[in-house]
Amino acid sequence: MKLTVLGCYGPYPPGGGCCSGYLLQENNCNILIDCGNGVLSRLQEHLDYQDLDAVILSHLHADHVSDIMIMRYGLEIAYNRGERSEPLHLYAPDTPGEEFDRLPYKNAYTVKALQPGKELQVGPFAIRVRTGVHAVPSMAMHITSASGTLVYSGDTEYYPELEQFASGADLFLCEANFTEADIENGLPNHLSTAQAARLAAAAGVKKLLLTHHHPERDLTKSLKEAEKYFPAAEQAREGLSYDVAT
Ligand SMILES: [Zn+2]
Ligand SMILES: [Zn+2]
Repeated sequence: MKLTVLGCYGPYPPGGGCCSGYLLQENNCNILIDCGNGVLSRLQEHLDYQDLDAVILSHLHADHVSDIMIMRYGLEIAYNRGERSEPLHLYAPDTPGEEFDRLPYKNAYTVKALQPGKELQVGPFAIRVRTGVHAVPSMAMHITSASGTLVYSGDTEYYPELEQFASGADLFLCEANFTEADIENGLPNHLSTAQAARLAAAAGVKKLLLTHHHPERDLTKSLKEAEKYFPAAEQAREGLSYDVAT
């Protein structure tokens, strides 16, 4: 299983950066997880977007969704030319309803609601989701194949059940938008790098990749805060690929 970081900033990117988007590949199956602004462009440095098997959105904030509103034009053109025989499978939480209702577009997507507790199989990947704690319902994802297990936090603030959900992951891709000072100042909706690192250590994950970087925070400093609890923590970097293996 190979994870490529296409974009890893939020709630907006710095110059030259992109918001959330991760390409997950194994055995010629290509899944895009989140599709924020800039991700469609980055994706095409690795793959023809027409070759995606599915897109899974953790939640319906614009920094995770906005390029869905652009990719649809290319998909629709290909469908009308007869170059696609079916719409692209798109999975997302169905709340807020008005955002979910904006996802379908002509023949671009088949839109389905992500359901906690129900396993979804896409190619070699078995996918479970659970709802985190965020301003809108945001899904953590547990993705397993024959080669390993990836757990992605989605956007969330701290909640204790995330430790169990991430337990034993080969790679834990965890949002860490904030610093410890942000948490002390009471900022909601996101984790700090230290919180992510404590969760990773308690869950016994093999590798921790911190993501959803805030463009206004010092990444070197926030990594140091994580290393106190998980010495091998890494900040996700756009364009890099990571092996997920047992
Ligand atoms: Zn976000
Ligand atoms: Zn969000």
